[in-house]
Amino acid sequence: MRILLTNDDGVFAPGLAALHAAVRDLGEVCVFAPRQPQSAAGHSITLTGPLSVEHVHLGPDQDFTGRGVGGSPADCVRLAIREILDEPVDLVLSGINAGANIGVNVFYSGTVAAAAEGAILGKPAVAFSTAIDGGDLDFPHIGRICRWVLDRLLADGLEPGRLVNVNVPLLEEGVPRGIRVGPQAIVEVEDTYLRQDDEAGCQVYRLSEEYGFAPGPKESDVELLAEGYVVVTPLRVDMTDHARLASLASVDWTHRPDDFR
Ligand code: MN
Repeated sequence: MRILLTNDDGVFAPGLAALHAAVRDLGEVCVFAPRQPQSAAGHSITLTGPLSVEHVHLGPDQDFTGRGVGGSPADCVRLAIREILDEPVDLVLSGINAGANIGVNVFYSGTVAAAAEGAILGKPAVAFSTAIDGGDLDFPHIGRICRWVLDRLLADGLEPGRLVNVNVPLLEEGVPRGIRVGPQAIVEVEDTYLRQDDEAGCQVYRLSEEYGFAPGPKESDVELLAEGYVVVTPLRVDMTDHARLASLASVDWTHRPDDFR
């Protein structure tokens, strides 16, 4: 199996090394990740600028090398699959992100976007993230949990284009309470913009580092992760509201030629 491994925390992030270590026995792991941290880059791609690519050594192990890309997470996946890799990729993995990607954060997340780009390109793709609280993260342990989940996803059969989002809770009790499958909770993010005008008197705001979520539905990603479960969420790239297609199509759209002049 050929795995494309990426992230949004940057190619040298410990979460990427942990995921690499957790999956390397599955086959060939090709690392393409942003040179610089790209958290909250979402699904952006580089339209006009050059996209530099350089080989980087990622650890003491001589085999642990990758490509650092001067672009976004989605750029990395597009470049790797469509342009640079000679052999087809069987699976795209993204993470392990330092910070949960649940609720609306799924939209801002470069970690999830990188996996979504893999799905768009017809690959099965999984994004991995972990909750953080400012303390040290035991990434080797979190990596083993991610691998446990991945093994079950693979055994279940990850079809081309499938996208799965996995979040690991804070391991306060040492181990997660269990694994739950749950939907995204689209609830308000409770963060704040702090006004910090600069010396020239320009109006400047900075997003607070602290944030939380408003309470979500009981079995949603936000609630389950807070309760200490590993949360597995199947996502889809197709954002169409299929249930609304028929009712919106039934609007009277008839027009006279003059309407569009
Ligand atoms: Mn990140």
